Formats: sequence, structure tokens, C-alpha cells
Amino acid sequence: LNVHDYLRSHIRTVPDWPAPGVQFRDITPLLQDPRVFRVLIDAFVHRYMAPELRPDVVAGLDARGFIIGAVVAYELGIGFVPIRKKGKLPFTTVQETYELEYGSATVELHTDAVQPDQRVLLIDDLVATGGTMIAGWHLLRKLGAQVVEGAAIVDLPELGGSQRLRELGLPLHTLVAFD
Ligand code: 5GP
Repeated sequence: LNVHDYLRSHIRTVPDWPAPGVQFRDITPLLQDPRVFRVLIDAFVHRYMAPELRPDVVAGLDARGFIIGAVVAYELGIGFVPIRKKGKLPFTTVQETYELEYGSATVELHTDAVQPDQRVLLIDDLVATGGTMIAGWHLLRKLGAQVVEGAAIVDLPELGGSQRLRELGLPLHTLVAFD
């Protein structure tokens, strides 16, 4: 079994959650089994240990991006900064609002979370339409950071996010795809 199939076999699909017609890709089984958790984290760590991709800091997207992002940062020996949903960060922030299927969402980042020209790896668990990752990318760029790449466990290519990111010029690395 290759890494893609091994990880894919540990993602649970929950039909009609959180709304009818949605097939939710649940990554919690990946975290629960220590062997799978290690394969998952090591897949990211090995990629970002390479000198040409090595970041200075990891930025994780609220909330499942915190779980994997923090562990990857720890293993790489670099810091972790959280990009949070509006109203959670106590210090001064930059904000970015983006459109959802119904309504909009705002994410925030502390203004001192990254330094200009720092190399940042942006992590979330899953890319669907790409809206969340693009918002995070904009926040990091507002602070002058250089985003090395976006990374996620899962890509849902049919929702167009990975293509949107590529067209905007943000490379995306994912481990598993679901059509
Ligand atoms: P996007 O902004 O790309 O449309 O949606 C991605 C965001 O929504 C990510 O932060 C991700 O955690 C969450 N998300 C949307 N659909 C799913 C799903 O099926 N499974 C998981 N684990 N997260 C999802």
C-alpha cells in the first residue's frame, strides 16, 4: 500500500453532514491511530525538510490546520502561528473576509505573527473551493511574508480549489484526493 492509499483508507466519509448532499471527509481516524498519525506527519515533514522548500514558520488554518500544522512545525524545529476565525485573537490583527456558499467568513492573523520576507508554509486539513486557503494566503502577504506553498491532507479537485490556487500562483501540495 502506498502512502496515498494508506492515508485515504483511514479517512471516513460521512454522508449528509453538516448538510444534506454533503459528503464530509472526516480526518479524525488519521489522528487517532498512532501509526497512521506518524505516516501523515512524516509525509509533510520529509517534504519540508528539503532545503528548497524549508519554511521559517508554519501558519495553520482554524481549526484542523492547527492539529497537523503545530506538529509539523515542532518536528521541523520552527515556530507555529494560528490563523483564526474572527474574534478569537487578542492582539492587533490583519483581517480577510471571503465568500462562502451562504454568507461570508472572516479570518485573522496577529500583525506580529510573521516578519516581512519570512518563508511560511500554510497548512489546513482539506481544500474544497480554496476560499479558506486563499484568505490565509492574503493575510500572510499583507504582512509581507513569502508563502512557500499551501499544504493539506485532502484535495477535493471537483470543487475547483486546487485549480484556483494554481491559477493565482500559490502552489498546493496534498496527500489524498477524493473525486
Ligand atoms: P474551502 O474554503 O476550500 O471551500 O473549504 C475548506 C475548509 O472547510 C477547510 O478549513 C476545511 O477544514 C473545511 N472543510 C470543508 N469541507 C470539508 C470536509 O469534507 N472535510 C473536512 N475535514 N473539512 C472540510
